[in-house]
Amino acid sequence: MAIFDLVDFDNHEQVVYCSDDATGLKAIIAVHSTALGPAAGGCRFWDYVNDEAALTDVLRLSKGMTYKNAMAGLKLGGGKGVIIGNPRHLKSDDLFKAYGKAVNNLGGRYYTAEDVNITTGDMAIVNQVTDYVSGLEGKSGNPGPFTALGTFLGIKAAVKFKLGSDDLSGIKVAVQGLGSVGYSLCERLHAAGAKLIVTDINQEILDKAVTELDATVVSLDDIYKQDVEVFSPCALGASINDDSIAELKAVIIAGCANNQLAESRHDQVLLDKGILYAPDYVINAGGIINVALEIYPEPYCADKATSLVENIYHTLMNVFVTANEKNLPTGKVADEMARAIIANAGK
Ligand code: NAD
Repeated sequence: MAIFDLVDFDNHEQVVYCSDDATGLKAIIAVHSTALGPAAGGCRFWDYVNDEAALTDVLRLSKGMTYKNAMAGLKLGGGKGVIIGNPRHLKSDDLFKAYGKAVNNLGGRYYTAEDVNITTGDMAIVNQVTDYVSGLEGKSGNPGPFTALGTFLGIKAAVKFKLGSDDLSGIKVAVQGLGSVGYSLCERLHAAGAKLIVTDINQEILDKAVTELDATVVSLDDIYKQDVEVFSPCALGASINDDSIAELKAVIIAGCANNQLAESRHDQVLLDKGILYAPDYVINAGGIINVALEIYPEPYCADKATSLVENIYHTLMNVFVTANEKNLPTGKVADEMARAIIANAGK
């Protein structure tokens, strides 16, 4: 395989293949850019169909982290780790220590953290062999509530831009996924007077939302076609695709899920339909902003994290205004802004 010719290879600074026979560790760490600071991004444990799929994933995700960190105004570059295999069979303390040694060998060029199938407990084991770990319990902790705050403020910015006022009372929001971020977001939306229409695969959390937040529950398939102002994807990636766009009545898409657009061309499709899209990596940066303060040399401070997360409102508003002036999709404009920040680093 010609790695340098891969579509997803974007002049990544470093791609490291790590293996350890004794524990079964097979991992790839990609450092996309350290132009703004040490690369930061989580580690995902996934049973990829083959090693090429893992490489594609880590190349894309690490590049995404560079853009996310740049747009969040952080002094951090972008990186990501993937551990290949079935976490249910492979997870062990020794495997995480072997992964930690690989992270440590990068000498601080990459800070790792939790991502899919990796818990704060797993990262505590990684932390036994390296200091280059973030998002630990007892420090910045669970990023979910910070991501929810940023997403809430992003929804307010989008409503202000599209509908003229950021008062959410009476605004109808369809929320797909009531997990760590989605439920916390719903609490804020409810407190602000928004009307919630929700879906999830977990009946217990839906019942809680009905009781506590006066939410209306709809089926997984019906969430897109709701007569609402805002559709908020807070579960899986790729939920914005040709089928869902055809059904959407919302004029705004603003949620915390990563990789919301099934294909990059859907950005233009949304513009053509008059739907305002809050680029996912800009609106969902609250968690990484919180984690960043754990990596910075100064002691972690939750109040500082909160005030930095509040900037998401203004960053998104800037994206919306610029995209409108240029008549370009918001995702494309956010990418251009991120690239400009990285290109100007150190100048
Ligand atoms: P989570 O696992 O806590 O919650 C996901 C929720 O989605 C669960 O309640 C799950 O039951 C539900 N769900 C699963 N499949 C669904 C479906 N088909 N339809 C509707 N609901 C479904 O995850 P989270 O931490 O809340 O993250 C949510 C999304 O936000 C993910 O895409 C994640 O990558 C992204 N994100 C999270 C953070 C963070 O700080 N946690 C930061 C940035 C981005």
